[in-house]
Amino acid sequence: MNFRRPEEECGIFGIFNHPEASNLTYLGLYALQHRGQESCGIVSSDGLGLHAHKSMGLVADVFGNQEIFKSLPGKAAIGHVRYSTTGSSVIKNVQPIMVDYSRGSIAVAHNGNLVNAQLIKDELEAWGSIFQTTMDTEIVVHLLAISKANSLVERLTEALNRIKGAYCLLFLTETRMVAARDPHGFRPLCLGKLGDAWVVASESCALDLIEADFVREIEPGEIVEIDKNGMTSHFPLKKAEPAPCIFEFVYFARPDSYIFGKNVYQVRKELGRQLARENRIEADVVIPVPDSGVPAAMGYAEESGIRFELGLIRNHYVGRTFIEPQQSIRHFGVKIKLNPVREVLRGKRVVIIDDSIVRGTTSRKIVKMVRNAGAKEVHVLISSPPTSYPCYYGIDTPTRKELISSSHTIDEITKYITADSLAYLSREGLVSAVGGNDNSYCRACFTGGYPIPFPKLKPEPQLDLFEKD
Ligand code: AMP
Repeated sequence: MNFRRPEEECGIFGIFNHPEASNLTYLGLYALQHRGQESCGIVSSDGLGLHAHKSMGLVADVFGNQEIFKSLPGKAAIGHVRYSTTGSSVIKNVQPIMVDYSRGSIAVAHNGNLVNAQLIKDELEAWGSIFQTTMDTEIVVHLLAISKANSLVERLTEALNRIKGAYCLLFLTETRMVAARDPHGFRPLCLGKLGDAWVVASESCALDLIEADFVREIEPGEIVEIDKNGMTSHFPLKKAEPAPCIFEFVYFARPDSYIFGKNVYQVRKELGRQLARENRIEADVVIPVPDSGVPAAMGYAEESGIRFELGLIRNHYVGRTFIEPQQSIRHFGVKIKLNPVREVLRGKRVVIIDDSIVRGTTSRKIVKMVRNAGAKEVHVLISSPPTSYPCYYGIDTPTRKELISSSHTIDEITKYITADSLAYLSREGLVSAVGGNDNSYCRACFTGGYPIPFPKLKPEPQLDLFEKD
């Protein structure tokens, strides 16, 4: 059984020492739903054993029945939301993964992607390990199980010394919860406190919902162990250059969250301001692609002095168009999701702001929609540089073939999306707006400079822009 090409987006949440642990985990996952909409699960511990409930579907659907929480007893729980593309969307891959081994039971929830998964898996299989899922996360469990070390943290350290890539891992045993963040710190992970309970979450918005206090972020390379005696921090892993994912700021994280020491909303607004400094356009109105373009469009409007309006209204009961599995459905999806406000657009020179262009499908549909609503000119501005390279560290980007800017110039993309003009934020502008320097973040999706090498993939044919029309 081979692992898939990494294509996952996930969120994790855990709480230790609270009488309503699984209920609060449900709420935490609810706040992290934007990080994965395909499947979700919770594993709880009552001190004697672990209990699981997981399924395909949104958090509210999977945990919509109060009765479920009776089957998730105990004062500790961890949970996971996950999105992956076709093929691997199967129930056996829903997390947290739970196993029994010689030392008891353990459950694990993972956000990120390992780059040497296949290599270790081949080795483990040669030694007789049998894998139940196609997820790289299972490797960590196997490595833990074969370790001869005494404590869980020692066994985990051995396992983590073998794996390379992006991970925020959350483990639950009968008696403890352990969180680990990879030495580069690709994905966010924070620590909170709710009375006597400790909380771990991918983003601080999950702490807000359950009214937990934000204590601090879990550091790159840190292992946090929580048991009945409280919280202990360990730094047993070799230090590495920090590489927090800049795309979390651009698109992925929720604007109300604090990640990597900053508030996402403020960063996104600054991206918009920087976009305005770099691209002055004669226009009457600036509109966001909701929701992802809203803060940047506000920043752009503030800096440029062009009026901000809501020219597109979003139906909030439709999932992200991006997650529709087939191109034919995705085309349709933009219309389901957005409708123009003709009064805002008619006869106007319009600037549309979005956070990124991936395949170009969304922008193309939106430009047409805005023009059909009467706009005189349509200019598209993107609050990040061209996304030309796939992510191997836990953001679901398509293959290079499908990334429009990997094989097409800005002029070609402008024609494809039928805009009067198109401009992206510069790479320098992105870094200066986020703060820090060129080496402060992982920007591989924009630059192709991957902080951790990964096995070479076969070259892919170029995307034919009009083949799907
Ligand atoms: P596309 O139509 O493929 O160009 O998709 C562009 C839209 O997808 C933009 O509006 C982005 O906000 C959104 N987007 C960008 N990256 C992702 C991602 N990794 N997962 C889901 N949506 C994304």
